[in-house]
Amino acid sequence: MTDPTPPAVEVRNLSKHYGDFVALRDVNVTIAAGEYFVLLGPSGGGKTTLLRTIGGFHKPTKGEILLNGKSVGHLPPDKRPTTMVFQAYALFPHMTVTQNVGYGLKVAGLPKAKIAEKVDYALEQVGLSQFTHRKPHELSGGQQQRVQLARAIVLDRDILLLDEPLAALDAQLRKDMCLELKHLQEKVGITFIHVTHNQEEAMTVADRIALIASGDLVECGNARDIYRAPQKAFTASFVGENNLLRGKVTEANGSSVIVDVAGSKLTVDKRGLAVTDGQEVKLSIRSECVTLDRLNGSDAAADGMSIMGAFDESVYLGLTTSHLVHLPDGTEMVSRVIADSDDSLPDAGASVRLSWKPSDIRLHVN
Ligand code: ATP
Repeated sequence: MTDPTPPAVEVRNLSKHYGDFVALRDVNVTIAAGEYFVLLGPSGGGKTTLLRTIGGFHKPTKGEILLNGKSVGHLPPDKRPTTMVFQAYALFPHMTVTQNVGYGLKVAGLPKAKIAEKVDYALEQVGLSQFTHRKPHELSGGQQQRVQLARAIVLDRDILLLDEPLAALDAQLRKDMCLELKHLQEKVGITFIHVTHNQEEAMTVADRIALIASGDLVECGNARDIYRAPQKAFTASFVGENNLLRGKVTEANGSSVIVDVAGSKLTVDKRGLAVTDGQEVKLSIRSECVTLDRLNGSDAAADGMSIMGAFDESVYLGLTTSHLVHLPDGTEMVSRVIADSDDSLPDAGASVRLSWKPSDIRLHVN
């Protein structure tokens, strides 16, 4: 039997140009109803453009957007099942919390009793029932942001669009609010689409993350897949601390390939990718998956799962320590371990071996 609920959002072959500049290029993405979806990526990549196009604030240059199964190309923002939460709080300073939250409903002409009921519900969801009579300047940044959220929830739209909603908050509050947002979305059960360039924020809240860079949707998946098993080299470089190695395929037969990296032959699972002898490829290994050992004279790098390098230095980061090593071709690699004692470090320039498990190294052809 087919699922009768259409996706909240279907973006089909969407491109957006600003004059000659291509801000989005042929983007396709489907977001399920009730999903917490994050658009993550570097500044200028096109996240806000995609969000605002979904919300109806920008017209697509090409392509189509369906919301709840219906094409919305012609609809202005207020006729779409979406509502936008902006980065700045944008609250009316002279109005109380209750008045701010109820404003949209009052403009829509709802009866007073209905407005009061909806505002009470929304304020309860965001934990602000105690603050109904305060004005915005009597609230903390986090509380003002919650008023914004209540103002969006009260409108009863199916899809909440959040553009860097936590950017104005300090680091600790940002962390706390992240979890609150996630819990709020679970409680109200509507679709959230959240733009951020902060990967920790993305991983905290998201059911799924789409990585957007240079106008392309690079990759889409749940937080664990994006972090542990990035398909694209860009994802590996943007999410987490990955070692990215460049190499040349020397043997492409079978389910594994042999890749020459700085003179060492590394064995890597092909993951079904089409590669040929002599092809330039990239490999990624997360820094916490790399083990560092001193070399004891043997050619310890001949097993296909390790590489030799020269020790540079260690950087103590509190919870973890990063050991920095450079390979014969100058590439820098990092081995990150849970911070331990600072004794018995190799001397600078000493030969070391970096090794990993077969499942921790990934092949990328783009
Ligand atoms: P940030 O995280 O910095 O907000 P972003 O990923 O949200 O970045 P967008 O705001 O979507 O990126 O912008 C994508 C690109 O489009 C940027 O290079 C930006 O300069 C450009 N751009 C955005 N709006 C316009 C506009 N109205 N006219 C021309 N170029 C624009």
